[in-house]
Amino acid sequence: MHSPERLAIAGGSPVKTTPYGTGKRFGIEEVRELVEALEQNTLFYFAGDKVRKFLARFNELYGAKYSVATSSGTAAIHVALGVSGVSVGDEVITSPITDQGTIIGILYQNAVPVFADVDPHTYNLDPQSVEDRITPRTKAIVAVHLAGNPCLMDQLMEIAERHELVVIEDCAQSYLTRYQGRLAGTWGDFGCFSTNDFKHISTGDGGVVLVNSDDEDRYRATFAFVDKNYQRFPGAVSRDAEFLAPNYRMTELQGAVGAAQLLKLPEICQTRHDYGDRLTEGICDLPGVAPHAIPAGGWCSYWFYMFRIDEGVLGCTRDEFATALKAEGINAQAGYIAQPVYLQPMFQRRTAYRGTSFPFAPDETRYRQGSCPNAEVVLRTAIRLPVSEFHTDSDITETITAIRKVAHWYSSQGAATVRQKGNA
Ligand SMILES: *Cc1c(COP(=O)(O)O)cnc(C)c1O
Repeated sequence: MHSPERLAIAGGSPVKTTPYGTGKRFGIEEVRELVEALEQNTLFYFAGDKVRKFLARFNELYGAKYSVATSSGTAAIHVALGVSGVSVGDEVITSPITDQGTIIGILYQNAVPVFADVDPHTYNLDPQSVEDRITPRTKAIVAVHLAGNPCLMDQLMEIAERHELVVIEDCAQSYLTRYQGRLAGTWGDFGCFSTNDFKHISTGDGGVVLVNSDDEDRYRATFAFVDKNYQRFPGAVSRDAEFLAPNYRMTELQGAVGAAQLLKLPEICQTRHDYGDRLTEGICDLPGVAPHAIPAGGWCSYWFYMFRIDEGVLGCTRDEFATALKAEGINAQAGYIAQPVYLQPMFQRRTAYRGTSFPFAPDETRYRQGSCPNAEVVLRTAIRLPVSEFHTDSDITETITAIRKVAHWYSSQGAATVRQKGNA
C-alpha cells in the first residue's frame, strides 16, 4: 500500500487553495418589496400587507391554514409554550444540543427544562430517552430538528399522545425538512421557525409560529400572544387583555424581505440537501469517521454538516483532526456548542433569574455531567462544516478529498511514525 499523502500541517500541500463560493442573499426582489413597504406609509403589520404576504407564502409552502409572524425564533417558541399554557410547576422535555432560543421561552414561562438524550449519529432526541424523562409534571416536548435533520416525529407523537403532552417543533434550523414525506413543523401542535440572519432565509431577525390546528380560537390566541394580547382581527379589535403576553411583533420591513426570501427557499434547501448528501457519500466508507446520519424516511436541508471522529480508530484527537482539516484549507470547526445546555452556568448555579433560584428545585439532580452521555460524546467528538447554497462543486469535492486525506494519514502507520519522530 502506498504511503498516505503528507498533511498540510506536516509540511505537505493543502487540498483546497481556492476560496469557497459566495453569493448575494438579497437582490432586487427584496428591494422592490422594501420600497413597497415604505410606500405604504406604515410599517405596522396590522396596517400593511407585507407580513400578511410573507405569511400567505409561508402557509402555501407548508400547506397550512394558520401561522403567526414573530420578532425572532426564540419568540416563536415562547409564544407556542405560552399559548399551550406551559407555566409554573411544569416540565418541558427538550434536547441538550440546541440554541439558547429553545430554552429561553421555557424559563420565561417559569417552567423547568428537562433534557433527554440524543441519538449519537443524528444528534436528535432519542424517543426512548424522552419517554424515560416523563413525570407527572411533564407538560410539553420541544423537539429540535437540529441542522436540518428531522426528529423521529412518528415515535415522539405517539409518546406525546399517550402521555397527553403538547408537542412544539423547533424548526429554526430545519426549513422544508421532511420525515416520512411530511414536513417538519407540521407534526406537532406548533412548528416554530427563525429568520435570524444565520438561518436558511433571513429577515435580519424574525420568526414564524405555525399553528397546526383548524381551530380559529387557537390561532387567535397565538396571534394575541405575539401582540400584548391585543385582539386585532378584522371587525373585532380588543385591548381587554385576559392573559399576560409580550410584544413579539414582526414589522413590515421584515415581512417584506421575508416574502421575497421565501421564493428562494425551496432552491436553497434543495442545494443544501444535495451538498450534505454528497458529503456523506464521499466519506461514509472511511474507518473512524461517522457521517451526519439522516433517519430512514428523512430528508435533511443541512443547516450545517456535522460528522464525528472515532479517536481510538484514528489515533488522533478530534481537535487534531479539525486542525489538520483547517490546514488543508477546509472551513472546519471542532464541535458545535461547547457543552450540553444543562452544563451551562445558568443550570449549574440555578441562576435563570437574578436573585432567585426559581424555577429550579433546590435539590435538582438532572443537570449533572453524564445526564445525557450521547449528547456529551457527540459534542466532544464532532466536527462541523458550514453548508451554503453558494458553495460550488469543487468546494464539495475538495472537502471530501481533504477529509479522506486526513483520515488516511491518521489511521496509517506512517503517520504514527512521523508523530513519534516529532515527539522525540
Ligand atoms: C436560531 C435558533 C433559535 C432561535 O432563533 P432566534 O431567531 O435567533 O431567536 C432557536 N432554536 C434553534 C435550534 C436555533 O437554531
